[in-house]
Formats: sequence, C-alpha cells, structure tokens
Amino acid sequence: MGVRGSGLTHIRYGHATRPTELSLVCPRCAAEMRATQPSSTTRVSAGDCTAGWNEPWALACTACTYRKRGATWDELRETSALFYRADVAGVTLWAWNRAHLTMLLGVLEGHPPAGPLLYFSTYMRRQWLVRTRRAAFARAARRMLAGARAR
Ligand SMILES: [Zn+2]
Repeated sequence: MGVRGSGLTHIRYGHATRPTELSLVCPRCAAEMRATQPSSTTRVSAGDCTAGWNEPWALACTACTYRKRGATWDELRETSALFYRADVAGVTLWAWNRAHLTMLLGVLEGHPPAGPLLYFSTYMRRQWLVRTRRAAFARAARRMLAGARAR
C-alpha cells in the first residue's frame, strides 16, 4: 500500500462536517495513529462553522512513541493518510476512524447501528452500496478491523 503520497487531499470533501477523531497512518512506523481535538471528549463531529473546527490536533501513534501537538487541519490534509483505506476493485473504501468503519460495515451488511456516527452514513459513497459489490466492501471492512485489532 502506498503510504506516502496518498494524503487526505485525495479524499473528496463534499461536506463540511468531519469527526473530531481520526485514524491516520503514523509517519514513523505506518501503524495506526490517532488524531484528536480537545472537543473529541465531548463531541464526535465538528462543522466548519463551529469553533471546534479550528481546534489544534494532537497526534499519538498506537504502536510507537511518535507524538505531535498543535497540528492544524490543513497540515493533516496535506501530510497524512487515513489509516482505514482499502482498494476494492478500483474503488477505495475509507473511513475516518475505527468507529466509523464499524458503522460502515453495519450499513453494508444491512444492519446500521444506532449511534452518533450514523450521521456520517449519509455521506457513504453510492459506489459502496451497489448491491453486487456490498459483500466485497464488507469483507474489506472486516479485514481492516481485524488487522487493526491484531496490532
Ligand atoms: Zn508509529
């Protein structure tokens, strides 16, 4: 998987709401790195019209000692790649974080879980929901969830 050069800028942003917690690729060891904002403890999402949008991000790798504070959203978009990404027959399945991926899996398998992240299901790509492809996307999601757990 091309870790570098596959930054967040490659993700199409058709919306102005995003989570306050992201799972990114650690620049040092390529494991899962969590990016959080101060409001992560109280809210799962921030809109671009809210104060929370511009809060600084704190980065912490789940596998090595890499830490960084004070990162801006623009820096993350330019330098970081989402950790949960998988290519399925030429279409990229991606998720902001583990909870989001779990929610996507539920939707793909026909039983969307209740919860605050269900809000983001409205942004699911139509390509992911094509009936003949759902099973393949669901398998990819399960693989990613299982792989991350094994770390
Ligand atoms: Zn690391």
